Amino acid sequence: LAARAAPYLAGLNPEQQEAVEATEGPLLVLAGAGTGKTRVLTTRIAHILASGRAYPSQILAVTFTNKAAREMKERIARLIGEGMAEGMPWLGTFHAIGVRILRRHAELVDLRSDFTILDTDDQIRLLKQIIQAANIDEKRWPARQLAAAIDGWKNRGLAPDKVPDGEAYAAANGKGRELYAEYQARLKTLNAADFGDLLTECLRLFRERPDVLAEYQKRFRYMLVDEYQDTNVAQYLWLRLLAQGKESRNICCVGDDDQSIYGWRGAEVDNILRFERDFPGAKVIRLERNYRSTGHILAAASGLIAHNEGRLGKTLFTETAELGEKVAVNSAWDSSEEARAIGDDIERLQRQGHALNDMAILVRASFQMREFEDRFVTLGLNYRVIGGPRFFERLEIRDALAYLRATVNPADDLAFERIVNTPKRGLGPATLQLLHGHARRRNMPLMAAAAELVGTEELKPKLRQALSALLRSFERWSALIPHTPHTDLAEMVLEESGYTEMWQLDRSAEAPGRLENLKELVNTMGEYESLPGFLEHVSLVMDSEGGEASDAVSIMTLHSAKGLEFDTVYLPGWEEGLFPHQRALDENGRAGLEEERRLAYVGLTRARRRAAIWFVSNRRVHGLWQSTVPSRFLDDLPEADVEISEPASYGGYGTAMPYGMSRFDTMAPFGSTYATPGWQRAQANRDTADPRKRTGRQALTIEGELVAKSVIGGEARFAAGER
Ligand code: ATP
Ligand code: MG
Repeated sequence: LAARAAPYLAGLNPEQQEAVEATEGPLLVLAGAGTGKTRVLTTRIAHILASGRAYPSQILAVTFTNKAAREMKERIARLIGEGMAEGMPWLGTFHAIGVRILRRHAELVDLRSDFTILDTDDQIRLLKQIIQAANIDEKRWPARQLAAAIDGWKNRGLAPDKVPDGEAYAAANGKGRELYAEYQARLKTLNAADFGDLLTECLRLFRERPDVLAEYQKRFRYMLVDEYQDTNVAQYLWLRLLAQGKESRNICCVGDDDQSIYGWRGAEVDNILRFERDFPGAKVIRLERNYRSTGHILAAASGLIAHNEGRLGKTLFTETAELGEKVAVNSAWDSSEEARAIGDDIERLQRQGHALNDMAILVRASFQMREFEDRFVTLGLNYRVIGGPRFFERLEIRDALAYLRATVNPADDLAFERIVNTPKRGLGPATLQLLHGHARRRNMPLMAAAAELVGTEELKPKLRQALSALLRSFERWSALIPHTPHTDLAEMVLEESGYTEMWQLDRSAEAPGRLENLKELVNTMGEYESLPGFLEHVSLVMDSEGGEASDAVSIMTLHSAKGLEFDTVYLPGWEEGLFPHQRALDENGRAGLEEERRLAYVGLTRARRRAAIWFVSNRRVHGLWQSTVPSRFLDDLPEADVEISEPASYGGYGTAMPYGMSRFDTMAPFGSTYATPGWQRAQANRDTADPRKRTGRQALTIEGELVAKSVIGGEARFAAGER
């Protein structure tokens, strides 16, 4: 009763309060976005602590990101005051908690407590050695491919001997299982674990040592899991083992099947369905009141997700009398106009007194960020990129820039050093050391030193060959600078160096995104006059990235926006192929489409007061301008909840345009949008657009930007001056 009066319970609705107070026994909170699931979890922890049911160290709480863990810690501290001298709960991601447990029992899984955690690069390097040692052609069976397979197995909690035959044979020339086992053995000798091990080794520990498992079952009297819909099999097994101890079936999972967006990484939404089976007598509480978004936003999101078939089904309502603003649907000519318009809108809100911290741009693919970063640098608008490096800081972009820098400036040692052995050419640390020695002695740049060394006997013939081939390439590329459009040159450099191919062969989950980023890099170069001009721009952008500004717009992918909320959310790039993403459709068909739609639902439901969707008529794909088709998800939005704007800088234009149905279709789509299903329009657009497609890039370098853009629709007379 003392707890009932507790201030932290004030303001919760009856269902939320029930979920907070049902501390004993298994509980599933299944509820839509913004209904207070995370708030319930946090309050529940406060309640357990404040009512003396457990010490902090007896509580295990799993969040999806480290950021969420930090926020939850702060909130708990605020809820129960600073009186928690006994420390904090075990609160973190599955990985963070896994590593903590493993370090305490390292010797039981053949590690020392100071084991290192390998990053992806280390992992690949190690796998390469293993593949080569097994006499398997690494070209045909790339290490990255094996790494991806092993990650997949680990996500499913599969030790080497449990990998299904078919899958084991399909990897590493039939030796998938052996090499996986060998890899695990090598990790032990190195006293190392990879990311997946943080969970699977924990699983092994629990299975092999019931006494250790029992200790944790006893310790964790209360377990809480946020974003339960995105747990993978290994995580699920891990939770189940921990929760099945007699004394500790106090497990509370909160989730939303409509927000399951990590299927491609092994998450299984079925875990939700299994919950009641695994924990008989489990209580299920549904929360239906949304506290986050105003009426139109919520209705738009609900209308959208209703188009999915595989759903558990939930209702959502909001009690705010306020319907608020409708979801804005805007179109722009191309992605730079989209960035310009969104930038203008942000500045408008800022002038009205809105904080940048309350605004976010949520993109489907990370390559989309570049345009916004560029624009914001120009505007002097503070921004931060969440959940990943900024565009020009990405690994593949830095590599590509290094190639270009070394092409423009053969004395750029840092650039040369970065890529001399990327992709692998056998020019490892030993060779580099030789080069450095020679360069120092002769007081010359590395490349010049290399040119001298290849004429001597100091290097083994094989290395000499590899190095001189690389030098010859750089010479050729440099010589082409004055004669070749720089975007063509950049493509050539990335192709001929084998850099693009390196990622094409890569089977890891990030590889397709990296290739997209590389294409975006070439795209963006087209906006600059020359290669040196572009490189200068990049160094300026990089330099402007000072310390963390206190007030800044967030830019992030839809995937990393899960669980977050902002007053204003911009959702650019709602075009077929980008969103829904073509890859998801190609690889997973209907299921892929539904996961994409859930992602759209996640995006819309991040918004408290304002949501603005954008699509463009033209996007550069693979370096070619293509007219695009508005996303079919736009058709899913209830008409009453959206406000469709005329294309800003082309007002009037769309309707007056006498030619080019494809342009008409994408510029002023809404006459036809509601009449024609998205896929039909896509088809129509493809049919009419294709024969007239040309590359904007060529036109750009010949006639200048505006002309180039207009050539996209294929109509030259549509050109200059009309804007
Ligand atoms: P998501 O599915 O997006 O993770 P969620 O269900 O976890 O959402 P929360 O983030 O916990 O939802 O809550 C959404 C917003 O609603 C937060 O700003 C939260 O503070 C607020 N909220 C939740 N419950 C209440 C309540 N009873 N009274 C007032 N505000 C509330
Ligand atoms: Mg949440």
